[in-house]
Amino acid sequence: MDQILSIDKGAEEGLVQLLKFLLENDKVSGVFTLRKTTGKGFFDYALITEPGLLEDAIPLHPFMNVNGGKIISSLPPMKKPVAAVIRPCELRSFVELVKRSQGSIDDFLLISYTCGGSFPFDKTLKDNGQKLLPGYWKAVEKGVDSENIRQSCASCEHFVPQNADITVSLLGEKDLRSKCLMYLHSERSMAMTEEFDAEISDGQLEIKRFEALLEKRSEQKKKDFKEINIEDSGLDGMIDLFGRCIGCHGCMRVCPICQCVLCDFESCGYDPDTSVIANELPVRGGVRVPTDTVLFHIGRLSHMSFSCVGCGQCTEVCPADIPVSTLFRKTGEQVAGIFDYIPGRDVDEEIPVTIFKEDELSELGND
Ligand code: SF4
Ligand code: SF4
Ligand code: SF4
Repeated sequence: MDQILSIDKGAEEGLVQLLKFLLENDKVSGVFTLRKTTGKGFFDYALITEPGLLEDAIPLHPFMNVNGGKIISSLPPMKKPVAAVIRPCELRSFVELVKRSQGSIDDFLLISYTCGGSFPFDKTLKDNGQKLLPGYWKAVEKGVDSENIRQSCASCEHFVPQNADITVSLLGEKDLRSKCLMYLHSERSMAMTEEFDAEISDGQLEIKRFEALLEKRSEQKKKDFKEINIEDSGLDGMIDLFGRCIGCHGCMRVCPICQCVLCDFESCGYDPDTSVIANELPVRGGVRVPTDTVLFHIGRLSHMSFSCVGCGQCTEVCPADIPVSTLFRKTGEQVAGIFDYIPGRDVDEEIPVTIFKEDELSELGND
């Protein structure tokens, strides 16, 4: 049975109080959280070891500038675990990275929350999203979607964290501004918070209350997937979709799952030098430039789409406005579904590509 910590403070204030307690009492070596930078509404992710600096922490701010799962996987191990506050999709991507030996669960006290979604980059450019915040939190209190969240969030079915040590309950909590409820799922989270000043009771996060939101998001996902109709149009569809790709590789750089130290597509083998064009031109009579943009996406799809957590970062950064995330998630879910694999579900669940057996090809009808 899980434990519930209840504090008579707003959700974010209560969480910051817990983070301070953990740091001041040497339960953790640091805190990884979003924080305000200069007080003008700007913010960033930070690893904090000085408790006083947590005054500026805004761990529940609905904006994902970078995928936190990717960032914590590259932090050096510290003496004790680091308390990391990350969204469910960031946590799922961290789990996928742990499976690829890119981090250790033991190095973190993983804190997440029932997630109402993140703002898209373009809606936060003018005022850092300040005007959108009241409407966003009202929607979260009601347990519905704010109209201003990312498309990838409006179709995200994994908004309840898995594998978290602590879940802060946000969606559908009517007293969000005066009450903070935190569910402790692991023995270490219970041990670390034993002396924390909060009301403690036994209880389980009630999943049933999210059914309506889950249904709505699943419907949205179906619509989004239908619009990306690659299966009928094949390679021509890929060429159409990525025809305006400028080959910047931004989608790859922000992707928490792309983790190869030296990516083949970044090597000189894919330089758009004259030899590529000189070799192709006589054969085809015409070549797309920049070259290899479609191959790049096919390569990425085959390398990692089964681990795509649908965080939407790739779509956010794409200068050509290509719905990269929808395609990767759709392809990934189809491939992962064959193996009953859900990325980020279980750290001990092996990645399909690492346990693939040759005779599985016939099961898939490819013999
Ligand atoms: S993709 Fe899901 S978990 Fe991630 S920010 Fe959006 S709603 Fe939250
Ligand atoms: S492919 Fe896009 S949506 Fe999927 S994990 Fe990578 S950045 Fe996130
Ligand atoms: S971010 Fe967009 S333009 Fe850049 S490589 Fe990816 S799909 Fe192409």
